[in-house]
Formats: sequence, C-alpha cells, structure tokens
Amino acid sequence: MSDCLFCRIAAGEIPARIVNRTSTTVAFHDINPQAPVHLLVIPVAHWGGPADLESDSGQAAAGELLRFAARVAREAGLQRGYRLVLNQGNDGGQSVGHVHVHVLGGRPMAWPPG
Ligand code: AMP
Ligand code: ZN
Repeated sequence: MSDCLFCRIAAGEIPARIVNRTSTTVAFHDINPQAPVHLLVIPVAHWGGPADLESDSGQAAAGELLRFAARVAREAGLQRGYRLVLNQGNDGGQSVGHVHVHVLGGRPMAWPPG
C-alpha cells in the first residue's frame, strides 16, 4: 500500500533506524520512544492490525512477528525482560494501520497500563 507509512518504511522509501530485517519482517526504533529500548516489529506485507490475522496466512504472519520480536529483544540485550504490545483500533490506541509489535524494555514496566 503506497500510502501506508510502515509499508513505505519496509520498502525503504521513508527512512527509519532499522535494527534488523528478514525478507518478511523489519524491526526499527520507534520515533517517539516510551522506554530506553522501544522497537517496532512489522511484517513487510501489509496487514491492518491484529484483528486481520485470523486466517491461516495471518497466523503465519503473527508467528513470524513474535519470533522476530523475541530475536531483536535478545539482540538488544533485554535479558531482564521486556513488554510486547499490539494495539488494535481506536480504543486500543492504534495510530498506524499496519500491524506492529512494540518491543519495550530497559526499565521495569508498570502494570496495569493506563
Ligand atoms: P500505535 O499507536 O500502536 O499505532 O503505534 C505506532 C507507533 O509508531 C508510535 O509509537 C509512533 O511513535 C511510531 N511511529 C510513527 N511514525 C513513525 C516513524 N516515521 N518512524 C518510527 N516510528 C514511528
Ligand atoms: Zn502497510
């Protein structure tokens, strides 16, 4: 989708601080970090959000996202732990309509979130 911000980051059309990528997945620094480490993990293919992942192909995409999130968290040195967040829709606080996993770490995370 040419008008999607994260599709354009995955395609290299918009710059981002990319930390790692595979042929299907990209991880980069969030532009407005909420923790000492705040990465975003996205599929190269456009999926709108978690609610779009019920199909078999969506399940595969979701699995890849989680696997890559675990890898970049390990590579970022988050052995003490980290939080993964996926936001869906307005009430979920989703502001970019391309599914993404937030990887937050480098400090203890409060629970419950606000
Ligand atoms: P969400 O609110 O779950 O949709 O998260 C979207 C995230 O994307 C926010 O944490 C933003 O700070 C982040 N973001 C927006 N634009 C960019 C960008 N150009 N590069 C990196 N992160 C971005
Ligand atoms: Zn997209």
